[in-house]
Amino acid sequence: MRKPTIKGILGSVSSFLLFFLTVGFIVSCCMMLFLSILADTMELTLTTDNIAAAAKITFWNVILITFLFKFADYIRRKIMVERPTKIITEATEKIMSGDFSVRIKPMQNSGMEGFNQIAEAINKMAEELGSVETLRTDFIANVSHEMKTPLAVMQNYGTLLQAPDLSDEKRIEYAKGITDGSRRMADMMTNILKLNRLENQQIYPEVSEFDLGEQICECLLQYENVWEKANIEIETDIAENVKVKADAELLGHVWNNLFSNAFKFTPSGGTVTVSLTATDHHAIVKVTDTGCGMSSEVGTHIFEKFYQGDTSHSVQGNGLGLALVKRVIDIMQGEISVESAVGKGSTFTVRIRRA
Ligand code: ADP
Repeated sequence: MRKPTIKGILGSVSSFLLFFLTVGFIVSCCMMLFLSILADTMELTLTTDNIAAAAKITFWNVILITFLFKFADYIRRKIMVERPTKIITEATEKIMSGDFSVRIKPMQNSGMEGFNQIAEAINKMAEELGSVETLRTDFIANVSHEMKTPLAVMQNYGTLLQAPDLSDEKRIEYAKGITDGSRRMADMMTNILKLNRLENQQIYPEVSEFDLGEQICECLLQYENVWEKANIEIETDIAENVKVKADAELLGHVWNNLFSNAFKFTPSGGTVTVSLTATDHHAIVKVTDTGCGMSSEVGTHIFEKFYQGDTSHSVQGNGLGLALVKRVIDIMQGEISVESAVGKGSTFTVRIRRA
């Protein structure tokens, strides 16, 4: 709030005086005109003394009334304009300095609906900024935490590699440890960048028409050596000729993540089933596995960034895969759901629009 200065006070007093005198003069003139017309029509004789007295009384009456009105208006402005402005200014200054906990209380007086609307919008903005800030700090904490593990592993192997007289076998083992750690970090960075681009909407879907069944089979085949090595049986039920208009690359991320999870969480001897069905407007893909499954508590968090429900497999991932899948499905205005039972397996169902 600005402090009042002498110049400012003198300025307002002179504008007040000018206002009173002008109003007083105009109303007095009108009164005189009215009196002279009245005297003419009623054939009354008004002396100059009468007129002067009436003019004086009218002038001072008008001055008094306008002063009362101005005073009432001054009080009204203090309560209805200056106080809310002060509250809003203080709140926005706090937000600007990074305090997002600030909330403005609504005013109960009538006529404050406009202020209450602004207050509500500011409260919402502070709430949003607060949650973005929490997400940002959580994100940084998660990234740092996720980077620490592979870095520590690589450091450890690096130290071991420095030992003299290492056998070839050990040297290869330690070098492989470093390669695996750096690959893990690179994978995480790739996922973070993809997610970041998707979240900032820098990737706009490049829509083209393609056969969804073919895409799913191609993606699945990339895991052939994985399922063979793990002795996992594959079952497919892919409807033919299901054309979709979508961004093939984005959708590819979805299948890759769902398949890699299915293989990762299914033990040897298990089965992974992939099915594709279609209606006129939608395509429905189901990825079912007979793996470890998850509890309903885990199920509610799996689409969050960096969330890993099953820590026994944490070295093979970074908890970003399903966050990425969810983001892609949201961009495509589709739906994804999961049904799972601990120890029995999981089914992920993706429903996308065909056009
Ligand atoms: P990551 O696989 O790297 O841990 P994701 O985002 O892909 O990260 O998955 C998040 C979590 O969801 C996993 O840690 C796991 O707990 C759970 N999950 C995902 N897919 C499956 C699955 N097919 N079976 C059991 N749990 C799963």
